[in-house]
Amino acid sequence: THVDNPYAGATGYVNPNWSAKAAAEPGGSAVANTSTAVWLDRIAAIAGAGGAMGLRAHLDEAVRQDAANGSSPLTIQLVIYDLPNRDCSALASNGELLISQDGFNRYKTEYIDAISAILRDSAYANLRIVTIIEPDSLPNLVTNINSFEKCREANGTGGYRDGVRYALNQLHAISNVYTYIDAAHHAWLGWDSNFQPSVNLFYDVVSGTTAGVDSVDGFIVNTANYSATTEPYFTINTTVNGTTVRQSNWVDWNYYVDELTFAQALRSALISKGFRSGLGMLIDTSRNGWGGSARPSGPSTSNDVNQFVDGSRVDRRIHAGNWCNQSGAGLGARPTANPATGLDAYVWIKPPGESDGASTDIPNDEGKKFDRMCDPTYTGNDLNKHNMSGALAGAPLSGQWFSAQFRQLLANAYPPV
Ligand code: BGC
Repeated sequence: THVDNPYAGATGYVNPNWSAKAAAEPGGSAVANTSTAVWLDRIAAIAGAGGAMGLRAHLDEAVRQDAANGSSPLTIQLVIYDLPNRDCSALASNGELLISQDGFNRYKTEYIDAISAILRDSAYANLRIVTIIEPDSLPNLVTNINSFEKCREANGTGGYRDGVRYALNQLHAISNVYTYIDAAHHAWLGWDSNFQPSVNLFYDVVSGTTAGVDSVDGFIVNTANYSATTEPYFTINTTVNGTTVRQSNWVDWNYYVDELTFAQALRSALISKGFRSGLGMLIDTSRNGWGGSARPSGPSTSNDVNQFVDGSRVDRRIHAGNWCNQSGAGLGARPTANPATGLDAYVWIKPPGESDGASTDIPNDEGKKFDRMCDPTYTGNDLNKHNMSGALAGAPLSGQWFSAQFRQLLANAYPPV
């Protein structure tokens, strides 16, 4: 059976690997029972890499948790994340597969087919298996093909479009699997130069699958990002002394100031374009809480639009384009089903405490490279309008445990833990 919202009435799977790391931190046991996603971030992760549980071990444990929970169904979240030319505009999460080195064939046979063969096992038929499809991939085709050769290549044959279609075809064919496509976040796609082109690209890709628009249950925004769900002290319609907040440096003419308004507008536009009216949105709230002492307690009283926005916003980043291990961030809303109109759930996809990227160059065999957006001394580039990166120092490779970040996320949680 395939329900409309796999989160409704369900218990979330607790990943024992993440949970143990969280619980080992001071105060961490308060959140260690939270459901977080399992990232299948390389072929070896399917069998279990670097001491972590593999896919079957997670699903077996999910069946065990389901039985222990009693009557409510159990939802386990898997992140599908191994496209060839992965993370084409950045470096910190570059992957193991390249289009130029038979990456699409390997993606199909060694990755997607291997995953779907396991998911089809009837032992897992009672689980609700949510798949988050390839964070950052299609959005990169909207905004980054002019500046990055790897993205240009990913826009062609055997790239992101073919890869996402293949993943959807295999995964949607399993009735207890749910698919959510990554749609970046408001400070990436929220300008009209990017918004409708994204909707068109999503439609183009999905309508080319075997089941067409039916192969998608919904979309997710803010995956592994830090944008606030709601800015409580201003909206996109706020004016300051007659000047729209859109004109501030922070908002920079975007049409959205937060993720909930972006997700809801995106959902409407997707449905208008031809997606199912039952489409459900997710917001990754794992690290977008922005609590702690730097959180404003009300709107600024300044008459200057920049001072007003900077004094009012709970998102304390230096620039909304900053994405790596952001200093000052806190855990966001705990996972919740049906939190708002059009939303299937608030979810924790990025496991809090796992690094976004190394702050120095660290050799590794996963394809990951050094991205200076993770270096706290970096003064930025065009993508963040030449601001400081805002990254915490001392970060390990993306995906590895970053204790200092976890402690800060816990301290700055909002709602507080
Ligand atoms: C990394 C993955 C990791 C994931 C979750 C990504 O940035 O590239 O290796 O599994 O984050 O922490």
